[in-house]
Amino acid sequence: MQTETKKIIQESLDALLENDSFLPDLTDRKQAFASLSAILSTPDKVHKSFLRVPLDDGSVVRIPSFRAQHNDAMGPYKGGIRFHETVNEEEVINLAFLMTLKNALHKVPFGGGKGGIEINPREFSEKELNLISRKYVRYFADVIGPDKDIPAPDMGSGEREMDWMMAEYKKVHHGTPYLGSFTGKSVVNGGSLGRREATGKGVYFTFRYLLYDYVKANEQLLAKSDNRFAKTTLSLYDRPLTMAVQGFGNVGSVAALEAYNCPLINHKIVAVSDRNVTLFNEDGLDIPALIEFTKTSRGDLPSTEQHLQNAGIKAEIKERDSLVTLPVDILVLAALENQIHEGNMKEIKARIIVEGANAPTTAQADEYLSEQGVVIIPDILANAGGVIVSYFEWLQGRETQFYTEKEVYRLLIEKMQETMDMILPQYYGDPYALRQNCFIHSVMRLSTVIYRQGKLY
Ligand code: NAD
Repeated sequence: MQTETKKIIQESLDALLENDSFLPDLTDRKQAFASLSAILSTPDKVHKSFLRVPLDDGSVVRIPSFRAQHNDAMGPYKGGIRFHETVNEEEVINLAFLMTLKNALHKVPFGGGKGGIEINPREFSEKELNLISRKYVRYFADVIGPDKDIPAPDMGSGEREMDWMMAEYKKVHHGTPYLGSFTGKSVVNGGSLGRREATGKGVYFTFRYLLYDYVKANEQLLAKSDNRFAKTTLSLYDRPLTMAVQGFGNVGSVAALEAYNCPLINHKIVAVSDRNVTLFNEDGLDIPALIEFTKTSRGDLPSTEQHLQNAGIKAEIKERDSLVTLPVDILVLAALENQIHEGNMKEIKARIIVEGANAPTTAQADEYLSEQGVVIIPDILANAGGVIVSYFEWLQGRETQFYTEKEVYRLLIEKMQETMDMILPQYYGDPYALRQNCFIHSVMRLSTVIYRQGKLY
């Protein structure tokens, strides 16, 4: 596991070790915390295979593939399967660890898992991808399942692959319940309404709750605090704001649309970007028109004057990577990891950063910006909407009773609000940044469960 990951666990455990009111019954605190550190900084199991796949042209390839199962103290392992050429064992283990923390933070009764297949899916035909997906399930069939380990889509995979994989699971485990074996399936195949929008909606909700609902209810309390993050939040409350959104896919476009339609905060989205371009308009971009455009362009934003003119959209075309350093109040990162780093952290002007993507801010940039009082809503807090609705999909699959879209969103927001209400009072009362706060809460919950399960001797 990465040194960075081990450091996060150790810092959280060190903070808890000093707090005698946490697990006061422990007889030998030092030894118990050393055991916890060992348990959390290593995955339970890592499964590997080189899938043997005959291609359309008759040749045969062997494709490295992984399933990491980090920790199942809270419930069956849960996490996506990434289809990407950079997939490797260490990355899969680290992402599985983040899933353990994310589920523990939001009290989702799952552990942490992650899978990966080392391919560029664009280089394979649909038939080949179908075979790769089914071979993956066949190879890992004994270690996955509705009560063992429940995969979901990740980068490069989607509902099509989940439908194929669930069908293969059903074939291998004929006669046993199968709807809960994979989440992120199509609705006709037992998927949940609202799953696609869940992450983007949750991302925007965490921002809105932090800057509007929570401040409205606690303004006087925050005004008395000398906490630097409370000062930043108050300085932005109830005034016109500008927002930029990096990435305009499932997460970014939905978060942007939520912001565009939100009547509670006086903000405009002045910039959005994707893999090709940044679009800027100081008067605010027409987000519904941009979403309409992406429906006929394989998801891409307009990238030429002609595109903009044809779609009737007013925007200035800027260089793709210029978005993150634009003079805006809020930055939503919904594309890739490591977007704010040592090289650009000093040029960041935004005072609130919302992490829709996983790990878009490097540890160094995170530390630097937090020292400047920038509020960073971290990935494990902001982008959990996907796994929360996956949990609802799993429940619906077990009961074979399905919720309406409205019910799904209500339950999603209730769950995320519960987490925000647990985290924010402490955040504004102590010196830690929001990320450390979230990690400490996750580690606290996990440690208590592991202790109660009698595993610290
Ligand atoms: P997506 O593939 O639908 O969209 C990604 C977007 O990022 C596209 O608009 C793409 O053009 C853009 N992009 C790619 N490279 C870029 C670059 N260098 N600069 C700017 N934009 C760039 O993916 P998604 O589902 O929206 O996921 C976005 C991120 O959120 C990923 O990191 C993913 O792991 C994370 N995430 C997604 C979910 C989910 O439920 N979809 C849940 C948790 C985390």
